[in-house]
Amino acid sequence: MKDTTHAFVAVAAAMAAGAPSPGGIMPAVLGSWLPDTDTPYSMAWAAGAVWLAAARLPASLKPALKAGKVEATIVVVAYLALALLGRHRGFTHSLAGFAAAAGSYILIFGFQALLPFGVGYFSHLLLDAMTPAGVPLYWPSAQRFGFPLVRTGGFVEYLIRNVAFAAAFALAFVKSPLWPQVREAMPVFIHDLMQMFRK
Ligand SMILES: [Zn+2]
Repeated sequence: MKDTTHAFVAVAAAMAAGAPSPGGIMPAVLGSWLPDTDTPYSMAWAAGAVWLAAARLPASLKPALKAGKVEATIVVVAYLALALLGRHRGFTHSLAGFAAAAGSYILIFGFQALLPFGVGYFSHLLLDAMTPAGVPLYWPSAQRFGFPLVRTGGFVEYLIRNVAFAAAFALAFVKSPLWPQVREAMPVFIHDLMQMFRK
């Protein structure tokens, strides 16, 4: 499936699962893009680069992170190597890939925003499982799991993407610090609007 579909579904799912906005948006998108680091010319490469950079940045540049952990770098490099050297939809699209990504996330960021990251990653596996190719959930076993409902780039994918975009936007807005202000101003706004029409 396409990068945008994965990103919108990930944000919508993460917000529905209770992640805050805007804090949960980036981890959700990052999680949803990492599995496709095994695909050439994908937006996922940007996610992979961010991932590697986060693991490698010196401690002084990332005081909020569990900085400079050698273990994090090893896990991220191993993850990216398995992604780039293996076939598409291999290791990164399995429970082992999910565990490695979550493990390195905890090593780098601790437990902050782990929920949206995990939900984002898992939503990617679920979405890809809906295409005819399926996913090798129990890698290194080659057996693929899935329920073929959606063709990549087909009508159903666009439908899923657009519905997810609307849901992600609405949920992120309602959970953002902006929403209480808008809600408070709403009665006054409606009152003024009605006054305008009455004249
Ligand atoms: Zn994928």
